[in-house]
Amino acid sequence: MINVPKGTKDVLPNQSHKWRFIENAARETAAAFCYKEMRTPTFEHTELFQRGVGDTTDVVNKEMYTFEDKGGRSMTLKPEGTAGVVRAFIENGLASSPMPVKTYYITPAFRYERPQAGRLREFHQFGLEAFGSPSPETDAELIFAASSFLDKLGVKGVKLELNSIGCRICRGEYNKALKNYFAPHLESMCPTCRSRYDKNPLRMLDCKEEECKKIAAGAPKILDYLCEECKEHFEKVKELLTAQGVEYTVNSGIVRGLDYYTKTVFEFVSTQIGSQGTVCGGGRYDNLLEELGGNPLPAIGFAAGIERLMLLMENTGVDFPEEQKPALYLAGMDAASRALCFKTAIYLRGKGVCAEFDHMNRSVKAQLKYADKIGARYVAVIGESELATGTVNLKAMKDGNVNSVKIAEIEEYLK
Ligand code: ATP
Ligand code: MG
Repeated sequence: MINVPKGTKDVLPNQSHKWRFIENAARETAAAFCYKEMRTPTFEHTELFQRGVGDTTDVVNKEMYTFEDKGGRSMTLKPEGTAGVVRAFIENGLASSPMPVKTYYITPAFRYERPQAGRLREFHQFGLEAFGSPSPETDAELIFAASSFLDKLGVKGVKLELNSIGCRICRGEYNKALKNYFAPHLESMCPTCRSRYDKNPLRMLDCKEEECKKIAAGAPKILDYLCEECKEHFEKVKELLTAQGVEYTVNSGIVRGLDYYTKTVFEFVSTQIGSQGTVCGGGRYDNLLEELGGNPLPAIGFAAGIERLMLLMENTGVDFPEEQKPALYLAGMDAASRALCFKTAIYLRGKGVCAEFDHMNRSVKAQLKYADKIGARYVAVIGESELATGTVNLKAMKDGNVNSVKIAEIEEYLK
């Protein structure tokens, strides 16, 4: 027996409608906010993520699925969606399109993590990316899109936490302040934090070790170091969200797991699914395009974890719409009537009606039992008289009412 790899999951036929519900809500939200889909490869050159996600992050340092292909190239299964989208944006010259360019994706992502509830090795993300606009309206629009998506799913009790981590200018000053603060504590911090001290002290605020967290709690706050432009930008984003009735709390501890963020960063967090509570995270990444070899261009995006949303919806009893059931089950008695069942089912399917017939050579009684099990709305038993008259008795399963309908008119009747 070969088992599913650790940290991955099968989606079975009786669960897949839940996935479609979430994915459809994602696509509808993206469409309403005028974001168009972009699909990029499942694997990329490893260097893309080293540069794009940042080599001081856990994702790049510890979690990547990296392998050498038969041509000796180092490849990595995408650990997130943004780097690939940005690469494709630059490579395909989308920078010369009218701005902004607004795109979305739904993608699997791969991270070698310790599997737990809401933390998998293969998981799925829905994300939006908007390129070309520096304006706070775009930040607010994107956050509002994430919030509408969550509303569409019917999830409750998810809180928006907001922060600004500034630009290169304010980060310079802030990094100095952080280093001054952390210097006397370095001895008692974890090796990862010690290595981040030189490379990217901001990331020390994101450590999950208890001791480091305690120390980080007393660190200087980035919001006190924002330059005028960043401060104004942040104020405007907050104002726009407030005007739209979006509730948020400012949390200066949010720096996000990836290196490329600037200015606005945010997370939607739930307390209902344990410690893996962040269902959606994002922010501005005004320097990323340049870092990946493109011309400088501001951009902003978010990614929502589909498995975590699913978990949240299941844990809080959100109703998923029912999965599609067959409209009609055609039960046949003998060879001739079975042939008519087959023909009629195929005809109806051509008209977009979900119809089913017997595949198992069962008795009529057993066929009707099966029809009930699969939740068919109507059943029709086809025999000699149906063959002769071209008319069938359609029985509604919910109330047992029977109506005589011409085969050619079934489609109309089922509507
Ligand atoms: P965390 O702090 O929980 O590890 P992260 O900062 O690494 O999250 P991002 O890189 O921002 O996460 O990814 C965006 C979203 O993708 C997360 O908010 C989460 O919902 C989801 N996600 C991230 N890693 C996993 C995983 N291993 N399994 C399932 N979902 C995940
Ligand atoms: Mg993580």
